[in-house]
Parts: sequence; structure tokens; C-alpha cells
Amino acid sequence: MHDHEPDALERRVQELESLLVKRGYVDPAALDRLIETYEHEIGPHNGAQVVARAWTDPDYKARLLADGSAAIAELGFTGRQGEHMVVVENTAQVHNLVVCTLCSCYPWPVLGLPPVWYKAPPYRARAVIEPRIVLAEFGTDVGMDVELRVWDSTAEIRYLVLPERPAGTEHWDAAALAGLVTRDAMIGVARIAAP
Ligand code: FE
Repeated sequence: MHDHEPDALERRVQELESLLVKRGYVDPAALDRLIETYEHEIGPHNGAQVVARAWTDPDYKARLLADGSAAIAELGFTGRQGEHMVVVENTAQVHNLVVCTLCSCYPWPVLGLPPVWYKAPPYRARAVIEPRIVLAEFGTDVGMDVELRVWDSTAEIRYLVLPERPAGTEHWDAAALAGLVTRDAMIGVARIAAP
């Protein structure tokens, strides 16, 4: 169901899709299955499991920071746009923020499809030029005493932020912790609030 009229871009996509189907280049069922997979099965809940494991298993965390792709694959999250993962850790001294200045490179196997704002030119430009202001607009104040590192994703390397574990969760298990981890925290535009 559509709750709005399709805009010019959506119409172009629909026309292109029907042309590809008509000429037999794509199978509409396979296309639907692919979209369904990335919308529902692959998403930030995968990344949340990676983060929760790192918070509860120091050896896993060490492996994750040393070789993101291999440690993420240990949990079964592999596939397109996630072949070369680098995980960067937020601490009290360092805050990491991920952007793709060129287009919309994003770690699909752990975060699913990127949000609209991540693909939009203002975020892509301003995350590099004025990251503290962008973060403040997301409600995330990073003090001047905290080093801010901005990572530019490419076709070769995709970044995942390992957020800080919030206070008050010392006795939580990995499953409960995973429920706290948000997509935005793994991009680096948000922190994880204490429960
Ligand atoms: Fe890109």
C-alpha cells in the first residue's frame, strides 16, 4: 500500500524494474525476496549481537577489533557489502562517526540497508566538515575533550562503531544487552542511553 504519490525517482525505478522484468533480466520473485531479506532478516539486530558479544566476551572483542570481518563472520554475518569490515571502538576519550562521502557505502550484513539521511548529500558533506554540529543535531553532544574520528566508508572498507556499554548493565547478559543497541549508535551518530 502506498500512502503517498510516487515521486519522479520512484516512477523511474518502477519503470526500470518493469522493463527489466519484461525483457527477462530479472525475476520479480527473486527481486522481492532480496528486498524482503534486507528489510527484515538482515538489519541492525545483527550488528547488535556483535556489539553485545564484544561487551560480554573480552577475547571476542579483541578479535573483533583486530579483524572485524573474521570476528563478525564467526557469528554468521557475511555477504555482500560486508567483506572488509573494520570495527572502531568508542571510549570516554574517543568518539567514532561513520559516513560515506562519495555515495552510501554501508555494512549491509550487520546493519541492513542504510537510512535515507545516511545517503543524503547534507550528511555526507557535513559529517566531515562539521561533525560535532551534526552529532549535536542527532542529540549527541561530544565534548571538546573527546577526540572525534570520522571514517569514510568505501567500496573496499565498511566501518562499524562499537559503542560504549551503558552504565547500569553490569549484570545483563548478551541477549538483553543486544536489545539496547541501536543502528544509530553503530553508525556513531548516537550513544546508547543507560536503561
Ligand atoms: Fe559509498
